[in-house]
Amino acid sequence: MAPPVKKDRIITELPKCFSPHAALHTKDGFHPQVSAVCREPKTDTLNFNVAKVIVVGDVAVGKTCLISRFCKDAFDRSYKATIGVDFEMERFEVLGVPFSLQLWDTAGQERFKCIASTYYRGAQAIIVVFDLSSVNSLAHAREWLEDAMKENDPSSVLLFLVGTKKDLSSPDLLACIEQEAIRLSEEIRAEYWAVSAKSGDSVRDFFFRVASLTFEANVLSELEKSGTRHGADVIKIGRGKESSFKNKSNCC
Ligand code: GDP
Ligand code: MG
Repeated sequence: MAPPVKKDRIITELPKCFSPHAALHTKDGFHPQVSAVCREPKTDTLNFNVAKVIVVGDVAVGKTCLISRFCKDAFDRSYKATIGVDFEMERFEVLGVPFSLQLWDTAGQERFKCIASTYYRGAQAIIVVFDLSSVNSLAHAREWLEDAMKENDPSSVLLFLVGTKKDLSSPDLLACIEQEAIRLSEEIRAEYWAVSAKSGDSVRDFFFRVASLTFEANVLSELEKSGTRHGADVIKIGRGKESSFKNKSNCC
């Protein structure tokens, strides 16, 4: 049996968005049917549910540091290029249900693009990362998204546009680049976040939001499939032997 989820990975409420101007949901709680299903009586068997999340963006924008800050609470100043694709698994408990994010860290170099793209398939969330101190990296965000979307179903994938290195950006540049980032995120229907892996600013809040929204989407999709959107008492998720919540891992 898997070890218990760490206390600091327990989510009991829907975390707030970064900016209501560019949020996937501005509601302040989980969908009522998701909350209702998660209140079902517990059983002993743990059954992990997973969401695949891919992290894309130009080389050196801070993808690896963003993931390391969250998963290891560490920041490495030296640059080590990611070769091909890396992978981290982060475990949560959302509304009492075990849930994991599979975080796929891809290389931004052109020569690794074709290796990385084979890992894009079956993502529940795409995180497009740009550097808040580099206008060029934001200009490339759309291309990264298009590449990642070729392998995925646009109707079911959640998109996040994340500006990193907030600590490096001057207030003027930050205001200017954020305006453009929010405009882009509205256009591509992504949620916008500005973070710093160096200081840790907003990193935890961001990943908690990703975990919560992918969890909610998974539960709603299961309810839809089993035709119980209007009868939340029928479905059992995540914990029971009769669980109808399938493991969504798309590990290659
Ligand atoms: P990747 O190629 O997108 O994975 O980029 P990395 O995560 O390896 O980071 C590239 C460089 O940017 C490294 O030298 C990091 O130390 C630096 N870096 C990453 N995130 C931040 C940040 O939030 N603030 C600052 N100041 N530097 C950062
Ligand atoms: Mg990297």
